[in-house]
Amino acid sequence: MNAPFKPTSEAAATFVRRHIGPSPRDVDAMLQTVGATSLAALMGETLPSSIRQKAPLDLGRALSETEALAHMNELAAQNQVFTSLIGQGYSGTILPAVIQRNILENPAWYTAYTPYQPEISQGRLEALFNFQTMICDLTGLDVANASLLDEATAAAEAMALAERHSQVKAKAFFVDHEVHPQTLAVLRTRAEPLGWSLIVGDPLTDLDKADVLGALLQYPGTSGAVRDLRPAITSLRAKGALAIVAADLLALTVLASPGELGADIAIGSAQRFGVPMGYGGPHAAYMAVRDALKRSLPGRLVGLSVDSRGMAAYRLALQTREQHIRREKATSNICTAQVLLAVIASMYAVYHGPEGLNYIARNVHRRAAVLAAGLRKLGFAPTSEAFFDTLTVAVGAKQGEIVARAFAEKINLRMGDGTLGIAVDETTTSETVEAVWRAFGGTLAYADVETGAREALPAELKRTTAFLTHPVFHAHRSETELLRYMRKLSDRDLALDRAMIPLGSCTMKLNATTEMVPLTWPAFGSLHPFAPADQAKGYHVLFARLEKWLCDITGYDAVSLQPNSGAQGEYAGLLAIRGYHAARGEDHRRICLIPSSAHGTNPASAAMVGMDVVVVACDARGDVDVNDLRAKAEKHSADLAAVMITYPSTHGVFEEHISEICDVVHQHGGQVYLDGANLNAQVGLSRPGDYGADVSHLNLHKTFCIPHGGGGPGMGPIGVLAHLAPYLPGHPATNGGTPHPVGPVSAAPFGSASILTISYIYILMMGGEGLTRATEIAILNANYIAARLQAHFPVLYRNAKGRVAHECIIDPRPLKMSAGVTVDDIAKRLIDYGFHAPTMSFPVPGTLMIEPTESESKAELDRFCDAMIAIRQEIAEIESGRFKVEASPLRNAPHTVHDIADDGWNRAYTRAEGCFPDGVSRSDKYWSPVGRVDNVYGDRNLVCSCPPLSDYAEAAE
Ligand SMILES: *Cc1c(COP(=O)(O)O)cnc(C)c1O
Repeated sequence: MNAPFKPTSEAAATFVRRHIGPSPRDVDAMLQTVGATSLAALMGETLPSSIRQKAPLDLGRALSETEALAHMNELAAQNQVFTSLIGQGYSGTILPAVIQRNILENPAWYTAYTPYQPEISQGRLEALFNFQTMICDLTGLDVANASLLDEATAAAEAMALAERHSQVKAKAFFVDHEVHPQTLAVLRTRAEPLGWSLIVGDPLTDLDKADVLGALLQYPGTSGAVRDLRPAITSLRAKGALAIVAADLLALTVLASPGELGADIAIGSAQRFGVPMGYGGPHAAYMAVRDALKRSLPGRLVGLSVDSRGMAAYRLALQTREQHIRREKATSNICTAQVLLAVIASMYAVYHGPEGLNYIARNVHRRAAVLAAGLRKLGFAPTSEAFFDTLTVAVGAKQGEIVARAFAEKINLRMGDGTLGIAVDETTTSETVEAVWRAFGGTLAYADVETGAREALPAELKRTTAFLTHPVFHAHRSETELLRYMRKLSDRDLALDRAMIPLGSCTMKLNATTEMVPLTWPAFGSLHPFAPADQAKGYHVLFARLEKWLCDITGYDAVSLQPNSGAQGEYAGLLAIRGYHAARGEDHRRICLIPSSAHGTNPASAAMVGMDVVVVACDARGDVDVNDLRAKAEKHSADLAAVMITYPSTHGVFEEHISEICDVVHQHGGQVYLDGANLNAQVGLSRPGDYGADVSHLNLHKTFCIPHGGGGPGMGPIGVLAHLAPYLPGHPATNGGTPHPVGPVSAAPFGSASILTISYIYILMMGGEGLTRATEIAILNANYIAARLQAHFPVLYRNAKGRVAHECIIDPRPLKMSAGVTVDDIAKRLIDYGFHAPTMSFPVPGTLMIEPTESESKAELDRFCDAMIAIRQEIAEIESGRFKVEASPLRNAPHTVHDIADDGWNRAYTRAEGCFPDGVSRSDKYWSPVGRVDNVYGDRNLVCSCPPLSDYAEAAE
């Protein structure tokens, strides 16, 4: 008799089994290797019992992938996609389908890591180089970075840069009254702790008499007005102050560039170059500067250098300039930026070319001009005669009825004080324009009005200079060519879709496809961040549940979803601490204790909120030296603001005395900032809010599955205990006019809202039990690697029971003595084995930090360990004198096709030993496109954007 059919293992059907790499049987084998009797026993030996979470994490039933997508469909149905003509820095745009599918939805692009290892990053480095070229060309300035978080923070960074370079001593900064309100609000947040004052006014009348270090001007203005900014810029430069212009990239295809107008710095958003609004983000902001300022440019900068054979190769230039490496001397904390979005914007320009962009701009302007002509007929003249795509009209008491009629047409307008703003974009049709006229009370036919419409770009501000002259912006006009170009670039890179990326502190785990799907649905992608909240009900349900889950996971009472990166979360968290002290009349508390092992963004963030960093020592075990901490907390007792501590420590260990550290700091009136980037070792096992921390940021692009995108986007929400909740960042768009103790840190109230869907779905499909299991396996995987590598490379730090947390540091420094092998040699040799290197020289110089995450299977962990052990054997061959280190496969790594095809090969090892070491597959080999990249050469000969076409012509002569 047959038993009724029943699936044998329900567990095998769940998403948890897909997310977690090792099978249950693998787990048993790995437990044996690490010498633990069970997962529970291993956890007992790894985490101090004092901090263990009492109750299991309960987040409700985990959904299957199918159920989760059905649920997301329900949420999507609660969002209403109106045509948003709000403008204010966000525009409708058309993401070419070929770019959507092959970049935004392609793991070869979105799962890549930050391009610190240039040899395996040539594809995205080239795309970013194109982005920089595009920004330089459009802004008319010399050097552009590879993106910032959003326009408002780019403005704040530019203000800080101006403060450092201005010849004016006054700590006052001028802000054009035509600057977007959210930008002004973020500038206020940034200026206040540093004691800088802001003067808001009309640059054409108020600037001459103002004693300011610099000014931010908006071009076109937030009202849409296109003004000749040259008199203002001339007046600034005459004082020795810096002129910053926030410019719209599409407008710059038809308007004279900021560089031509005399600006020192240009900033802005690249959103309308194909990146969906996403209810706030993510989008790439840009910054470009005159040559003299390039060494102060915040953020990452891609430059050209040469490889070991003298061939051109891209790399991140002037890395020491990356501010957070300078710790408390840093002037910016930007780390994760918006690489994926910058890549998309650059491809949009590659796809359209200069003539295509110009065509789009002219069309947009034409529609705006026709709209204006119609509005004039209806008795509403725009406030400015000169405009590009945005009109503001005075409507007085008629505002309510017009807006109501617009809503009935499913159109959002920008509401001002007795005014309405209307911004036209690439997606605006003649039907939309007619609908706007109807909202204004008239029935006009587009074709009739069009004949009488006149252009509204001032003759003296028309663009006369060429842009995007480089061949890359001309050679890919057919989809076939573009498809192959994008494929060529992604093939050069090593991302998670090919191999484990064992980066310590960066948690490169699975970014499941299901998690990525809803992101590009219009119901999430097409919402304007300042659309009325009742059109975004689905989003707000998601925000509320995500906040609740993150509270449950961390033990905190409130969460802000605003910060766009971990570092921005640190900044927001420190502002909360500062706000709390100030409210208690203790604004003199400005000392921030930071252990020497901390991530560089910690001291950089503290410096940005005006705190003084006091460094706390670490002991020989890598733990925070509690005696030193106690002494320094005592010494600065009266002025102690906070401690910033990473837990488990940056050294990858759960320190025993974390609660004691929290107590000491609290006793002296300080607050505990716990850097939550390492939450992947804690979810379900321990909660910072329970064991003494007051505030943490959580890197959703690490622990909660938002892909790294090659260096961004990210999200860094912060969780706080109740006493800090009033000091979470506010936002003018959501405060409803009431002042908030702490201003916004991002342009949009919910940061990069659209990618919150990824973390939401992840938690939804894992449930509390699945998340806890993930943490346990992450810890098992790290201990497994430590156990397998220990005999070959000593593991630097362990806890008293010999366990590491979710990552481990291995120490090849003795090999420098015995064989002359550097950590770089090992990192580059790993490329020949088909791996991305672990984190190099952080937090301990000369070491490698490995974090496998729970998503890597035992097979992949073994492949990696085998490669490391094989490399150790190669080092032994240097030690035994088979070849000198200079002639070894390690120093010559990575090996390329040029090596295997080298007819003059005369090295001490064979070409096969170089290219296919230890059984590396000959059919599935990853080939690094370039040999080892020369860092020094690149910095000495800084080239950060493509040369113009004229240079090619000259070279051809
Ligand atoms: C990644 C990381 C940060 C910074 O996060 P970003 O998103 O890159 O700004 C801060 N602290 C630690 C420990 C990190 O690992």
